[in-house]
Amino acid sequence: MNERIKIVIRGAVQGVGFRPFVYRLASELGIKGWIINSSQGVFIEAEAEGCTLDMFISRLQSDRPKNSFIQSFEHSVLDYFGYENFEIRESTESGVKTALVLPDVSTCSDCLEEVFDPSNRRYLYPFTNCTNCGPRFSIIQRLPYDRNNTTMGEFEMCPECKAEYKDPSNRRFHAEPTACPVCGPQLTLLDSTGKPISEKHSALMEAVRQIKNGKTIALKGIGGFQLLCDARSSDAVKLLRSRKRRSEKPFALMFPNMDDIKIECEVSAAEERLLTSVESPIVLLRRKKGVTSGISSETAKGNPYYGIMLPYSPLRHILMKELGFPIIATSGNISEEPICIDEFEALEKLRGIADFYLVHNRKIQRHVDDSIARIAEGREMLIRRARGYAPLPVSIKGLDSSFLAFGPHLKNTIAVNKGNNVFISQHIGDLENIESINAFKRVACDLQNFYAITPEKAICDLHPEYISTKFAKELNTELDQVQHHYAHVLSCMAENEIEGDVLGVSWDGTGYGSDGTIWGGEFIIPQGRDFERAAYLKPFRLPGGEQAIREVWRIGFALLYDVFGAEVFRLTNIEFIHRIRQVLYIKQMLDKNINSPVTSSMGRLFDGVSAILGIRSTASFEAQAAMELEFAAAEVNTNDYFKYNIELLPEGTYVVDWHVTLKELVKELNGDVHSDILSAKFHNTLSEVITDVAKRCGLEKVVLTGGCFQNKYLLERSIRRLREEKFKVYWHQRVPTNDGGISLGQIKYSSF
Ligand code: ZN
Ligand code: ZN
Ligand code: FE
Repeated sequence: MNERIKIVIRGAVQGVGFRPFVYRLASELGIKGWIINSSQGVFIEAEAEGCTLDMFISRLQSDRPKNSFIQSFEHSVLDYFGYENFEIRESTESGVKTALVLPDVSTCSDCLEEVFDPSNRRYLYPFTNCTNCGPRFSIIQRLPYDRNNTTMGEFEMCPECKAEYKDPSNRRFHAEPTACPVCGPQLTLLDSTGKPISEKHSALMEAVRQIKNGKTIALKGIGGFQLLCDARSSDAVKLLRSRKRRSEKPFALMFPNMDDIKIECEVSAAEERLLTSVESPIVLLRRKKGVTSGISSETAKGNPYYGIMLPYSPLRHILMKELGFPIIATSGNISEEPICIDEFEALEKLRGIADFYLVHNRKIQRHVDDSIARIAEGREMLIRRARGYAPLPVSIKGLDSSFLAFGPHLKNTIAVNKGNNVFISQHIGDLENIESINAFKRVACDLQNFYAITPEKAICDLHPEYISTKFAKELNTELDQVQHHYAHVLSCMAENEIEGDVLGVSWDGTGYGSDGTIWGGEFIIPQGRDFERAAYLKPFRLPGGEQAIREVWRIGFALLYDVFGAEVFRLTNIEFIHRIRQVLYIKQMLDKNINSPVTSSMGRLFDGVSAILGIRSTASFEAQAAMELEFAAAEVNTNDYFKYNIELLPEGTYVVDWHVTLKELVKELNGDVHSDILSAKFHNTLSEVITDVAKRCGLEKVVLTGGCFQNKYLLERSIRRLREEKFKVYWHQRVPTNDGGISLGQIKYSSF
């Protein structure tokens, strides 16, 4: 099938023969489209068969001209346009040019060679970088990007570094963070009380020894602290879990090299490219079956995926080479607070968690977490957009003034725009504690200062109690409030560059609805500043509100009670029904309607069904029950699906009624059908619901958005079913489908 991809490359790709190179490559592969070179980067649109485009993408990187380098390479799939040839277009830049702040770039191969060359003066120097690589966003204090405007400003260059910095023929010509062992930052190892015990390379070697001993090291990295320990040692991982009070949520891993990853996981060509990209995110990889894993089972219990990254800074390269085995590399924070960025904060917050602190004297200006990505339906899909990506812009057409969008409550990001460039902040997190709220305020100032923007309008969520809403309301500026699920739809439309009539399927855990109830299973047809709620999931209740999100069996009970009434107690195959005292208590809550908010949330339906199937009755982290339901479905292959009802309300809105679905599910559960099969059938039912509603609405374009579409099984199945019925399907690629994408949708809203 012919596809169109859009590629944005940033770095020194100007004036090095890049355009002719791209032209020749496109001609050789028979690709149609165009290339433009501008101050904002190189923009390419290419059309061909999918596999030809894959080759184009990989050869753009591997065969590029010698003197070119790439600091960011983003691509996404767009609707086929039908170009007739490939041309070099002239850049038509007008108006104000925005200086871009580049993200932190993973170590380039030249620097890596130097670091491991005993005859080089930067041998084993962990802060080696050059014009092509190294820290950027995490060290910039203000623009323009000069050394004195970064946290490297306080390091005086030695004569040798200065000579390189001033030599136009040198790779370090104007490499602002350049450094060497003589003049640059150095490592120190602190004990758990903060007392320095070792310096420089021996600090690193001592840290290596301690990790081998099963100790936990807090490492001051690029964008903040990380906690490291031996991933092979169940004792070490268990200890870290108990200290961090993180019982089950999977830990990310860092592997020394690709070969070792391939022993543990299935790695496709697209996944390998992502792992070794300049952005170097954590990639979710499927664990190999039937392999005795070298990784402790404590790392990602009940999860068929590992989140894995490769070393991306010289410090990590040296560390991993010395260790030679995979380590846990998880964020250095307490529960959901932002990651620590300085030693004092780390010593206080990580007390009792870290045994040692491997720190250095280069200041981190702002927190930047590791990004997380996965491949779904053959395309990259960012789940968390931070290191390597933030704060590069996403462009939207038709923005004539500047806006500031405050994002949602969970997985918060903020966005501002200057003309068509929308700058989405790094991942901030859940605004549930004072540290996250402070980070939120800092980032809001940060973004405006960077781009010298005085927004004409602020945009926030509709929820009156969100911190982000309250904060936006306190500003003395015009304010738009955008319904959460509509913002999801607009976000997905914006990044796929589509306009006009679409059906938005906006499914997630929680969002404040226009009617004041909690929404989350929404079918939305955009109408400019307004939208039509074309369909929604039949609402149910959450006994205990927030508590039901953890104790998901409460949702399971509420669903069954809705369907079966008092007969629910006759159901024998439901595990939680036997906890009779607890269940009766919940029944009372529902009967008397005490603290049982109504919701149409699809995420919560997943939670409830997970409990009903006996897969998970209590969740220790957000979406755990729903995720395990997905993993169960992925174990089997069935094309069957349950029935469901769709009823049409007088106002022309469809209600998706899951009562039949649950009745059949419970019947099969009593007939001892395996929960994996039931889970698959439940997922398939939902893909059918989407297809069915899409047919009734009769719009050609269908947009899949919201946190539920992080579910690979649901996403891929829905795409396939919709395509079979000749719909055009769109989902997220560069911007998270979860609430991390809301701020982009809010900005898009203001263009109306
Ligand atoms: Zn380099
Ligand atoms: Zn130097
Ligand atoms: Fe959401």
